[in-house]
Amino acid sequence: MIARAASATHEPTHEPTPSLAARSLRATLDLLLPRTCVSCDRSLESNEGGLVCSLCWSRLALLPSPHCARCGHPTEGRACRFCATLPPFVRAARSVCWVPHDVGSAAVHALKYHGWTATARDMGARMARLAWPADVVAERAALIPVPLSPTRERERGFNQAALLADSLAAHWEVPSWPDALVRTRATGTQTRLTPGERSANVRHAFEVPGDPHGASARMRGLHLVLVDDVLTTGATLNACAAALFEAGARTISYITFGRARASGDR
Ligand SMILES: [Zn+2]
Ligand SMILES: [Zn+2]
Repeated sequence: MIARAASATHEPTHEPTPSLAARSLRATLDLLLPRTCVSCDRSLESNEGGLVCSLCWSRLALLPSPHCARCGHPTEGRACRFCATLPPFVRAARSVCWVPHDVGSAAVHALKYHGWTATARDMGARMARLAWPADVVAERAALIPVPLSPTRERERGFNQAALLADSLAAHWEVPSWPDALVRTRATGTQTRLTPGERSANVRHAFEVPGDPHGASARMRGLHLVLVDDVLTTGATLNACAAALFEAGARTISYITFGRARASGDR
């Protein structure tokens, strides 16, 4: 009994990745679904590999310059107000485009609700081109996708943040560690919550699995980059960053495809 109990504590706390059957079904659907742009419904040309047409990609609402060197938020020449919401151990944050916006939101929706890996590839390629402070480029050691709850991941069959991290990992030549962080409880949709309620809702909802020879040992002293599809108030990313910092990571940066406007942003 003792041996059994001891071995049980070493069992992974995260859910298994989607079955081979589920993944091959998705790959087949990728091929069979009508090839139209998820944003404008125009038929895609054969040289347009993803699910957003090149015209729509050119219309993406990129975050404008000048922007804050730390958090990437447009400043319009004023002092940054968004940085104050970031924990001190967060070095930098970058996002490609504003959401909601027709093109950016369509890409996020296609990724999140259909798991189209071609979309993740296109989004990851754009995330990979974002400019960072030189120390972040020099130090970034691994990509950590924001985890879903096990139930949500089982329902969806994949974690959209992990798909983006995989795409980004190939561009940056930095590993993705999808098992480094787990969501310890479901937090529900945050859509209708105020920023303060969001922070309270996700506080202590993430942890680095407790194996002393596993994740926490390998991340000690490192600069890690958290990956998510959208940054809204930052509550979820901040809760994830706190868990990584408590586990020994020294510095954390954020990268997301979309970013929600804060009050005052144009
Ligand atoms: Zn289009
Ligand atoms: Zn800032």
